[in-house]
Amino acid sequence: MYFCSHKKIRLLKTFSVFQKQEINMNKIVFATNNEHKLTEVRALIPNWEIVSLSDIGCFEDIPETANTLQGNAQLKANYITEKYGLDCFADDTGLEIDALKGEPGVYSARYAGDQANSEENLQKVLANLKGKSNKSAQFRTVIALNLATKTHLFEGICKGSILSEKTGSSGFGYDPIFKPKGFNKSFAEMNQVEKGEISHRGKAVRKLMDFLNK
Ligand code: IMP
Repeated sequence: MYFCSHKKIRLLKTFSVFQKQEINMNKIVFATNNEHKLTEVRALIPNWEIVSLSDIGCFEDIPETANTLQGNAQLKANYITEKYGLDCFADDTGLEIDALKGEPGVYSARYAGDQANSEENLQKVLANLKGKSNKSAQFRTVIALNLATKTHLFEGICKGSILSEKTGSSGFGYDPIFKPKGFNKSFAEMNQVEKGEISHRGKAVRKLMDFLNK
């Protein structure tokens, strides 16, 4: 399958006159320039060429003005489909903390303010959870796939809890303070493969791939 432009990368390997194996390199746009997300998703789907926004010459900040993860994922995917005429997928992720009534949720990227960085957002979470006994939380990712004029949605959830301080140095965003259920370490203490097997994004991407490979 090929969903990016209308060129198909096709490699033909001839083993004998009677046996031919065709290797198709599938290609699709992932509407992000976040290197961490690109690395995670590329590792999860090695048989697809994942094309980033910069690969298609898009360097704009796509507005994320919806008040749901689904809405923002759709906004990003639609922006690319409408402006560039390409099929693509986009994701939006939120950290949903029970004791904070689901916050930061859809506002995870700007929890500490519009210009806030990951460290400031993470510190605000730790400050707001101080003194609270319920540390339950979940990461939720929604992927919107625009394919041949239709939008398809895929969701992945990873349940866990918030640690009282940062632990580990891998990953990105809230990884150092999130401990997935059933594990004694944070996402930031896991390698990419370990995280991908259980993470919100890993689950959503596998659903996306099952759909695309059908
Ligand atoms: P977005 O999906 O890029 O809008 O992400 C929203 C916010 O959640 C950003 O601050 C990210 O750094 C953070 N975030 C997204 N995915 C992850 C993850 O897998 N681990 C930790 N933080 C994440």
